[in-house]
Amino acid sequence: MKLPKHIFVTGGVTSSLGKGIVSASLGLLLKSRGYRVTIQKLDPYINIDPGTLNPYEHGECYVTDDGAETDLDLGHYERFLNIPTSKDNNVTTGKIYQTVINKERRGDFLGKTVQVIPHITNEIKRRIQIIGKSGDYDIIITEIGGTVGDIESLPFIEAVRQLRWELGEKNSMIIHLTLVPYLASSGELKTKPSQHSVRLLMESGVQANVLVCRTEHDISKSIREKLALFCNLKNENVIECKDLSTIYEVPKVLLKQKLDQVVLRELGIDLYPEVDLTKWNYFLERHKNPKNHIEIGLVGKYVSLQDSYLSIAESFIHAGAYLDAKVDIRWIYSGELTKENIEETFKGLDGILIAPGFGDRGIEGKVLAAQYCRENNIPTLGICLGMQTMAIEFARNILGYEKAESTEVNTQTEHPVISIMEQQKGVTEKGGTMRLGSWTCELKENTSIKSIYEKSEIQERHRHRYEFNNEYLGQFEENGMIASGINPDTGLVEILESKNHHFYIGVQFHPEYKSTVENPHPLFKAFVEATINHKTSNQLENATGKKI
Ligand code: GLN
Repeated sequence: MKLPKHIFVTGGVTSSLGKGIVSASLGLLLKSRGYRVTIQKLDPYINIDPGTLNPYEHGECYVTDDGAETDLDLGHYERFLNIPTSKDNNVTTGKIYQTVINKERRGDFLGKTVQVIPHITNEIKRRIQIIGKSGDYDIIITEIGGTVGDIESLPFIEAVRQLRWELGEKNSMIIHLTLVPYLASSGELKTKPSQHSVRLLMESGVQANVLVCRTEHDISKSIREKLALFCNLKNENVIECKDLSTIYEVPKVLLKQKLDQVVLRELGIDLYPEVDLTKWNYFLERHKNPKNHIEIGLVGKYVSLQDSYLSIAESFIHAGAYLDAKVDIRWIYSGELTKENIEETFKGLDGILIAPGFGDRGIEGKVLAAQYCRENNIPTLGICLGMQTMAIEFARNILGYEKAESTEVNTQTEHPVISIMEQQKGVTEKGGTMRLGSWTCELKENTSIKSIYEKSEIQERHRHRYEFNNEYLGQFEENGMIASGINPDTGLVEILESKNHHFYIGVQFHPEYKSTVENPHPLFKAFVEATINHKTSNQLENATGKKI
């Protein structure tokens, strides 16, 4: 068997069909059969990476251990497969062109005219194959962003056409994802858009081996046959992917239709042992039918596009299922929080998460949230800017530094409790220049955080330019706010926790990037548990009239 084998996932008809989820689900099925699988994403936009994109443009920017700012689909890959991804798992048109143009400037092309074919397509093919060079994978799934027919996707499709030819028969395949819309007026599912989409792909010289159809209704036998006929496919290579209540159900649905077996056959791979989804199904069962129910307020400024906080929402699902609880999120726009409306806005919430973010809009709302939670003993987790606002609030209201600020908001502030990191001072370029990726943090003895992680040293992923100002640390600690996690090399404060609360913790890093279905993150588990306990004691208090 020539390894690795490649699976390309393309999309047609419309964007947002869920290629990332289908790729991750297929990856999970193949992995649970014993294959070594990874997934990468090719994005056709010209940004070098999504790090400079506003979350409203492209949802959350996901960060890998090695400090790459990547597409949010990489988060799905990690959460489903429980494997880390890296900078090599996300390639954009911007990166491809940057490499080719740098080579041109160096004179590597020896006076030749540099063109899309072959220079850009060669670079795309090289990038697609980088991950496989390690010998660590049997199968590589490559999700191609965008929609077939888009001008900007053309070089990627052309590179795939060439690569399929070079790799030889049975060493690669195409899964094409389309929409089969339902026309209410005629009461029918329509196959025409999928037919056209497959034909469009064929015009680029690429034949789909499998069609995955997103649909709101069951695809009948006759529709499946029709799609198969028009798209040159066997009936079993047409897979239905109906709308589901949770993305975590997709692997089960694909397994039922034997997508894994179809794929292995297309790639000429012997079938390894059966898929074992026992653990996954256990998680799914608890996720769908939980015993407990809690509501957590997420205070942030990008709340009108919930994909901006995707990994946080998913981390709550993992931790919730682990604790047999459904976590509902109430999305709270920090820009509208005031002293007057905060009580009403937070009413009935069992915990508050103060979200990451950038810039000054909505920051005062986060400071207010931090104060309200501290004063009312509400379980609170602050992430990155969330932690920073907890520190600002503490400095203002406990230490009495009314004007305490982050220098991100006010460079001239009298009390810069949060200030720009030394290494960031000379940085002028925005892309890829923050403190990024995995850093070590040492946990202090006899702290909540130590008992949560149950170890003395952790690695967590970062994405920030500002830090807690250690000049204020003594006063913070004297007044009950402890730096319970410190970077051993730089002394940077990575975790603040209150000694006077059940759960009032701020972290400079992003725990949400490391939570997976198989390994729910300890900090999210502890936070959800604290909110369940808070809710139970509130209920007891209300029932008995006694303070618990
Ligand atoms: N804006 C803050 C900083 O750069 C926090 C960043 C974040 O929340 N990811 O330090």
